[in-house]
Amino acid sequence: MSGEKWVERLRGAVQGQLLLPEDQGYDTARQVWNAMIDRRPAAILHCVCADDVVVAVKTAVAYGLAVSVRGGGHNVAGTAVSDGGLMIDLSSLRSVQVDAKRQRAWVEGGATLRDLDAATQAQGLATPGGVVSSTGVAGLTLGGGFGWLSRLHGLTSDNLLSVELVLADGSQVRASAEDHSDLFWGLRGGSGNFGIATKFEFALHPIGPEILFGPTVYPLEDAPAVLRHYEAFALEAPRSCCVWANLMTAPPLPFLPEEFHGSKVLTLMQCCAGDPEEGRRLLAPLRKFSTPLGDAVMPRPYTEAQSILDAAYDKGARNYWRSHNFLRLEDPLPDTLCELAADLPTPESDILISQLGGAIADRAPGDSAYPHRQTNFAITPGVRWRDPAEDEARIAWLRTASDALAAQAEAGSYVNFISEREGRAQEAYGANYGRLTALKAEYDPENLFRCNQNVVPA
Ligand SMILES: Cc1cc2nc3c(=O)[nH]c(=O)nc-3n(C[C@H](O)[C@H](O)[C@H](O)COP(=O)(O)OP(=O)(O)OC[C@H]3O[C@@H](n4cnc5c(N)ncnc54)[C@H](O)[C@@H]3O)c2cc1C
Repeated sequence: MSGEKWVERLRGAVQGQLLLPEDQGYDTARQVWNAMIDRRPAAILHCVCADDVVVAVKTAVAYGLAVSVRGGGHNVAGTAVSDGGLMIDLSSLRSVQVDAKRQRAWVEGGATLRDLDAATQAQGLATPGGVVSSTGVAGLTLGGGFGWLSRLHGLTSDNLLSVELVLADGSQVRASAEDHSDLFWGLRGGSGNFGIATKFEFALHPIGPEILFGPTVYPLEDAPAVLRHYEAFALEAPRSCCVWANLMTAPPLPFLPEEFHGSKVLTLMQCCAGDPEEGRRLLAPLRKFSTPLGDAVMPRPYTEAQSILDAAYDKGARNYWRSHNFLRLEDPLPDTLCELAADLPTPESDILISQLGGAIADRAPGDSAYPHRQTNFAITPGVRWRDPAEDEARIAWLRTASDALAAQAEAGSYVNFISEREGRAQEAYGANYGRLTALKAEYDPENLFRCNQNVVPA
């Protein structure tokens, strides 16, 4: 491999490190968040500047190399890495610059949410992100992106102001509402199909430093009734409130009575983005229903809220997910969910209900490539396990659970929550798929960027 012409060309032209299979560090560098992914790229380029990305793209085109792009490495389908291709790794490009006065942040293409939140919170600001801090800003934003602040301020991609991008021909462009506005439309939900983002510009909002945040936990036998009450609250909730429900196995948390550790429970993770005292008032209607086993809702730093789930979803487990969109949690769904929860196959598995709506729904489905504007709840059953020998059984369980939920769901699925690497584009992009294929034909006609939920050029 080291004698190959493309290797020599890359080595001679980039500042970043090029790792080949025989090199030390290669095996660590090809690992991503989901331990099921075990692919072996021909080479991994750790880019340290945008010019490295340009050289990588031009070399890949010249030598017919398949390309995959790594931001935070969190994609559950492992699209950051492909067998035999060139893995263009941006994880060393993580700087974040903040202009507090203009409430803007400029974020490099390999930054994580932790990098972004640390820099923006230092100025009392934030933009909506996801709920686990090691997630990459790039993949999350390009697929849409939602978290605790999205009901108040929209998707992460709704807060995107511009993107600096390396296109499939190696040219560099800036896409925004004014420049390449068609491309900018596609970048907000169309995933990594159109180029490699080296820098994102976001709008910021005053948040914190403390917000009201934390879980209440209920026994599984109370969960159907609590879920019905949760739905009623969620559909009328003020936008500053965002509550995600999770059916799971109780970890040994200090605020839970010991006899419930290891039992199946429903958790309501509650967030109110404004003043904590006001948060107590706004969340009161949710909290007065049923008596929880434990309650850890309290004023906490926003950055703590953003990382509270990190340990539960750490790197290294084998993972398989499916996600379904819902307008309501109507009967018989609460019972279906609780029956599935009673049968969760491993202690790390769960069924996560993300509350959406609010500002996300202010925009029309065609406003950007992210189509699921009307979804009020995304329900994502996920299995997590450690032993490869269990792969078949775990995946089979998840597919059966997913089929039971699909029977009651709306059409469509969030592109960032899909475990299959191929064949889900229509489901992910919905009515926007046709426009995306035309855009793809213009910006990436040879489909260089195809290691993703792929949009096929028209
Ligand atoms: C534990 C966990 C929690 C999550 N929580 C949330 C959540 O709360 N909200 C939410 O919306 N999503 C969430 N996600 C899903 C997350 O948005 C996706 O997994 C997303 O793909 C992660 O982006 P990444 O950069 O880390 O991924 P990577 O695996 O590095 O990349 C995924 C794909 O994104 C594209 N890509 C990455 N970087 C670039 C770049 N610089 N330029 C162009 N394309 C690029 C490529 O196509 C790549 O294949 C979560 C995922 C995990 C594993």
